[in-house]
Amino acid sequence: MAKWEENVRKVVPYTPGEQPDFPDMVKLNTNENPYPPCPAVQEKLRGLRYEDLRLYPAPGADSLVDALADYYGMQKEQVFVGVGSDDVLAMAFLTFFNGDKPILFPDITYSFYDVWAELFRIPYERQPLSGAFTIVKEDYYKPNGGVVFPNPNAPTGVELPLADIEDIIRHNRDVVVIVDEAYIDFGGVSARGLVEKYDNLLVVQTFSKSRSMAGLRIGYCFGCPKLIRYLNDAKYSFNSYTMNRPSLELGAAALWDEAYFRETVGRIMATRERTKERLAGLGFQFADSKSNFIFATHPQLPARELFEALKEKHIYVRYFSKPRIDNYLRITIGTDEQMDILIGFLEEYKKAMAGERA
Ligand SMILES: *Cc1c(COP(=O)(O)O)cnc(C)c1O
Repeated sequence: MAKWEENVRKVVPYTPGEQPDFPDMVKLNTNENPYPPCPAVQEKLRGLRYEDLRLYPAPGADSLVDALADYYGMQKEQVFVGVGSDDVLAMAFLTFFNGDKPILFPDITYSFYDVWAELFRIPYERQPLSGAFTIVKEDYYKPNGGVVFPNPNAPTGVELPLADIEDIIRHNRDVVVIVDEAYIDFGGVSARGLVEKYDNLLVVQTFSKSRSMAGLRIGYCFGCPKLIRYLNDAKYSFNSYTMNRPSLELGAAALWDEAYFRETVGRIMATRERTKERLAGLGFQFADSKSNFIFATHPQLPARELFEALKEKHIYVRYFSKPRIDNYLRITIGTDEQMDILIGFLEEYKKAMAGERA
């Protein structure tokens, strides 16, 4: 080790899903939306000007903040935006998790939380999900430095009822509680309304999944004006111009077409329900998902082998080599056609495996 390496901030980075690029691939591994962004976004994209590259963006990202506040019926002082919800969450960890007591999050959850905690030197403690992969709210009633969890949870897809979320907030009035709602638009109930009632609640959402804009990187959150002010203070002490001008414009346009949004999200939910039936028919087991993915295991088909076999056919799903979930696959809901290809493969694979065992 070189002498200078002693002073390096060493981190074990988050591992994102692969981004392969085969024309024939069925990509169900990173929870992207299979449908294009709404036509208003495509139109706006054609209208972008060189000026949007030459000029700095508004540091307060005002046009997008205003559009979000309008859309959700909030005040603009209750809205903060960032480069994907990852940026919003990282900024929130940096800003609000600054005590000596450990922050709490589930043992099976978004695998960026422990990475940020390590990066920012925040002590943390994982709380085990139940055997059915549900969050046990009572585990979060002890002294802590903050609470964060996704709802629906990832990669399980399981939703925690709003009443239980409110119980967790009520038991944690002395710390900030972050609810990461990356998948809330696929049938879950948002905690957004509780922001009026609890000044320690931050609700984080994203355009990456339900609004088909993962490539553009737009995330946002809601909180009381004081929380949002603290977030902006941290942001302006780090990088004033996190979001670029095209993102601000295209993001606002993404909110214009409610009918398109409802239709595409509805299609994904319908495909999800059909996929649940077909996976169950093949003997897969899974907790009930309220997201755009299904986290499934099979008593006879080892997940890692299946993951590799799928990949050979350019069907990509996500596999986590981690305690408790190393026999599961997280399968993103694509189009009906994509799910037909997946299910067709699984039928053949299962037959072939049964033949081998016989
Ligand atoms: C996808 C995801 C995010 C981050 O999404 P962005 O693309 O950065 O907005 C955050 N939390 C969870 C639980 C996610 O699955």
